Amino acid sequence: MWFDTPALRTLIDLALAEDVGTGDHATEATLDPTRLGHAAVRAKSDSIMCGGAVFVLVMQRFDPRIVARVIVADGQRVTHGTVVIELDGPLASILTAERIALNFLQRMSGIATATRAYVDAAAPHKARIADTRKTLPGYRALDKYAVRMGGGHNHRTALDAGILVKENHTMAAGSVANAVQRARNVGSHLLRVEVEVETLADLEEALQAGAEVVLNFVLCEANMHEFGDFIRLVAARWPKALANYSFVAPSTDLVPKEKRLIPRYSDMLPFLSDGLRLADALHVRVVGFESMCGLPLCLIPEPFDRNQLQLTAIPEGMGAGEFVRAEACGQCDYRDRCYGLRQGYAELHGTSELQAIRQV
Ligand code: SF4
Repeated sequence: MWFDTPALRTLIDLALAEDVGTGDHATEATLDPTRLGHAAVRAKSDSIMCGGAVFVLVMQRFDPRIVARVIVADGQRVTHGTVVIELDGPLASILTAERIALNFLQRMSGIATATRAYVDAAAPHKARIADTRKTLPGYRALDKYAVRMGGGHNHRTALDAGILVKENHTMAAGSVANAVQRARNVGSHLLRVEVEVETLADLEEALQAGAEVVLNFVLCEANMHEFGDFIRLVAARWPKALANYSFVAPSTDLVPKEKRLIPRYSDMLPFLSDGLRLADALHVRVVGFESMCGLPLCLIPEPFDRNQLQLTAIPEGMGAGEFVRAEACGQCDYRDRCYGLRQGYAELHGTSELQAIRQV
């Protein structure tokens, strides 16, 4: 079992020590330590199962007399009430270790479930959902495994697992070409060099320098009118490439809430629409409808067909506080499957662009 690593054992030991402390006094006071029993773990909502083996490992690490059986394999959909794990053994030990084991299981299943929602949304467009390194220390292997169980893909597992040249590296190196060249000089020939670029000039420079992959066209005030040029360039020079686009999502305090970075969608979308039509005509494959970037469903531009989206219902509590709705959302047929606008965007531009969608 790949989970059973020294690193995971250390993490589990930390979690047990943190939670149990000097003892589970309530259980010790109320339960005979020799009393044996049976327990079952049930799903509390429709979700993607993930982390069964870790749950078992936690239980057995706390008390080897506990026998736990995983009923539902990782990656499987479960409905509310489904028994996913069964346990037999000393009831007191099961009760004490329950919270820690569930914490692992719930975290991993939550990640897998959220990933699956995005994967389903992107499925009609052949877009791949990939993860990041924004993980809690110690949890990365589990988090990334959960992403895979949700149907997503792992990007870099760590800084040494690939070279991603970002804006800061480009600035530090003086130019895209310098950054790529230096990355090639220091990196193993087996490491792929990816480059994030902001302008067409940067794109040309990156390709001249021999980068294999250019990730994204992020629309903002400075470049939104270049989206059509970007599509033309892809058609002319890399007809087999995937063109990807996204927006700056005001999702954390690290993103400056500025209109030059985050213009009104209504100002950007005409350029996006024209570019998508052009891509159709020039047979450029476009991926990149990413609800993650915060574009509400009612603003998805033509010729994109929102009816092709296979959207799942928003899991309970997800997005709470980060997204806002307009009055129109209450009348909208997509209200259970659309997150609305990001709070940061609404602070900049209000919610007047939103329009209820009625499917007759
Ligand atoms: S009106 Fe509201 S719920 Fe409907 S698609 Fe737009 S943002 Fe989403």
